[in-house]
Amino acid sequence: MSEFELIDKYCRGIGPKHDSTIIDLGDDAAVIRPDGDADLAISTDTMVESVHFLAGTQAGHLAHKILNVNCSDMAAMGAQPKYATLSMSLPSKNESWLAQFSSSLKQQADHHNVQLIGGDTTKGKLSLTCTIIGLLNKSKAISRSGVELGDDIYVSNVVGDAALGLASLKGELSLPTHHRLAAEVAHYRPQARVELGRGLLNIANAGMDVSDGLIADLRHLCDQSEVAMEIELDRVPLSDLYQYYLQNGGDHDFALYGGDDYELIFSCHPDKRAQVQSLSESLGLSLTRIGKAVEATNSKKISFQVNGKSISASDSLGYNHFA
Ligand code: ADP
Ligand code: MG
Repeated sequence: MSEFELIDKYCRGIGPKHDSTIIDLGDDAAVIRPDGDADLAISTDTMVESVHFLAGTQAGHLAHKILNVNCSDMAAMGAQPKYATLSMSLPSKNESWLAQFSSSLKQQADHHNVQLIGGDTTKGKLSLTCTIIGLLNKSKAISRSGVELGDDIYVSNVVGDAALGLASLKGELSLPTHHRLAAEVAHYRPQARVELGRGLLNIANAGMDVSDGLIADLRHLCDQSEVAMEIELDRVPLSDLYQYYLQNGGDHDFALYGGDDYELIFSCHPDKRAQVQSLSESLGLSLTRIGKAVEATNSKKISFQVNGKSISASDSLGYNHFA
């Protein structure tokens, strides 16, 4: 199979064909003509074997993840993802791997309404780089720098399951089968919160997605917005799986410091609580208030509370419900 045949068979026709795509893959460059009012949001993410994913990870999981982590960056800005390019470095032309990869990529591209308009294919260590282009129709992007003093801080869905999944896959943690499978799905198959990002455009003052870990990413919001935050650890939303882990000797470290959840964290004025609530109901996605933005006084950006009482940052390490 030539490189041309490979591209034709596994990379063409992925995602809906947008009218605004003038030239898609096959030429020297793709040409798009987004409507005149649109701002473009552009982001790139790379996943390298053994660095960003375990060797031997199924092709379908990789395709799902590379597209969703890129769409998650669009979600974080409130942008609608629309076009993608994909650079693949592949150790071999393994057709069953490619078929699985392509079919999962197509499914997620259709789901997010993203058209694959180009890319590159080379031979080398397994590595995937996706660039995503999204639209912001004249609306202000949700940035990391807009947190205002007194803002409520929210997180979508739950955190920590992806990190539990990784620990389980590495054999560092043993879970009963149904919990193990849920943890692995959380790790392999994050869901970009695109509709949430769109819904937050007129509600949130600032936001970002959780990739480095809840606290690390809240700290990024603090840094960019020049505020500090008080986070109520007992309000951080956890899944049934995570509750099981806590009840069996686990602590909050994966939820607070693990990464790869791809949920959204955002800040908004307290008078937006009803709007946040109705957005949560319309999306069928929980949005939990976990703290508030306060004045930055010293170098400590995040302070923690449990049941209304302050605890030290070091106490938050290894914190659990029974402590
Ligand atoms: P060039 O020689 O100009 O780099 P290539 O032979 O690498 O072109 O690619 C041919 C066409 O196939 C281009 O339009 C490119 O965008 C597209 N393409 C190559 N690899 C991929 C891929 N992994 N996914 C999507 N499109 C791809
Ligand atoms: Mg090329």
